[in-house]
Amino acid sequence: MSDNPRPFEPLRDLQTLVSLSKQRGFVFQSSEIYGGLNSCWDYGPLGANFKWNVKQAWWKAMTRRPDIVGLDAAILMHPLVWKASGHVDGFSDPLVDCRDCKNRFRQDTALVDGEVVCPKCGSKNITEPRDFNLMFETYMGPVKDEAGIVYLRPETAQGIFVNFENVRVSQRKKLPFGIAQIGKSFRNEITPGNFTFRTREFEQMEMQFFVKPGTDDQWFETWKETRWQFYRNIGMNEKKLRYKEHGPTELAHYAKAAFDVQYEFPMGWQELEGVHNRTDFDLSRHQEFSKKKLEYFDEQSKEKFIPYVIETAVGCDRLCLALLCDAYRDEEISKEDGSTDRRIVMGFKPEFSPYKVAILPLSKKDPLLEMADKIYQDLIPHMEVEYDESQSIGKRYRRQDEIGTPLCVTVDFDSLEDESVTVRHRDTMAQDRVNVSQLFNYINEKLVNF
Ligand code: ATP
Repeated sequence: MSDNPRPFEPLRDLQTLVSLSKQRGFVFQSSEIYGGLNSCWDYGPLGANFKWNVKQAWWKAMTRRPDIVGLDAAILMHPLVWKASGHVDGFSDPLVDCRDCKNRFRQDTALVDGEVVCPKCGSKNITEPRDFNLMFETYMGPVKDEAGIVYLRPETAQGIFVNFENVRVSQRKKLPFGIAQIGKSFRNEITPGNFTFRTREFEQMEMQFFVKPGTDDQWFETWKETRWQFYRNIGMNEKKLRYKEHGPTELAHYAKAAFDVQYEFPMGWQELEGVHNRTDFDLSRHQEFSKKKLEYFDEQSKEKFIPYVIETAVGCDRLCLALLCDAYRDEEISKEDGSTDRRIVMGFKPEFSPYKVAILPLSKKDPLLEMADKIYQDLIPHMEVEYDESQSIGKRYRRQDEIGTPLCVTVDFDSLEDESVTVRHRDTMAQDRVNVSQLFNYINEKLVNF
């Protein structure tokens, strides 16, 4: 985010963001007119643009380099994939019931001094834990029987592992190389919540980097650094980011080492991304279950081995949420008469703003609307542009601030005479007069150097 000249309050609670998101069209509750569906959210017009921009930033960072290629695998996969990956047997949370109030909850989230206490009623009269598998099941084909069971993937990674050979051979890739993918995952989470932070349907941005065993520790460090640099590059507040290492008891069954990138959300420090050394676990298991060779022949050393995998896995929705939290500012503005006012600004880096420019004709008189429309038509092939002719100009500026539009172009009566428009900057609130013939270059230059 660019440095801000005014005092401001950051986001203190998620509810403020939930309200803003609904009011301005970033995120709506799923199926709201039916009372909503718990933990499912829809991205509105602004949210859809914003999320798209976030994916683009990640996709570019991953695939615009010679050693990583992209993939877009199907959500439904052969059921044996999930046997091999360990998800059928091991992807579960321990659930307990409170015998007093019948509340059902995750055992590991309700430990107080080593004892399980019901978070609802405080009772310690709790059942033994039972494992609850987090995978959604459905049936493939017309008959609903055991043989037709398929799962909605709980992670995108397995689509990459099972395509390792296809990608390697078709792209003539040599180690080390990576495969990146963005796609939906589904987990029947027991305790979803905190807006879009933990949901049952979400999008992941995962990259699996295949390396020679023995070089994995070094690559793990490299990816830790690379991912940190990514968050710096996209303008996140570094003070709200940290790395946290998984202790031996927290490591997933497949992992040799794992670090979480954590972000300080309003509800505290929480995982944003995982960087994992998955060893040769997944490829070995797929080799075993599929009976297809997934070994790699290293021409230099003439060795055959199963590659190790360094994984970086971030939730797209979680990153969107972190960026929304990071961008929010409740600012104090000093007015010319000495009084103060407040405004809400979403201080996105322009690359993430749902709209880069808003065109605002000062009045609804025909010649102004015509000129404004012409400017809109000229800009729209090149960037996301909003056009707004309703309400007072002050209110329109405030709305654009709240959705994070970096530049507003106001067409006024003088514009008809001098062929110039006023361009107002979101962060400084400064205004420049710019000739329409120069506008496109001016906007591009400002967006790059915002
Ligand atoms: P958590 O401990 O938060 O449940 P995890 O360690 O199980 O997450 P991974 O399996 O490593 O998560 O998934 C990689 C990333 O996918 C996470 O860092 C997170 O950003 C995202 N993610 C995982 N589960 C969810 C979910 N239920 N809702 C939204 N994003 C999720």
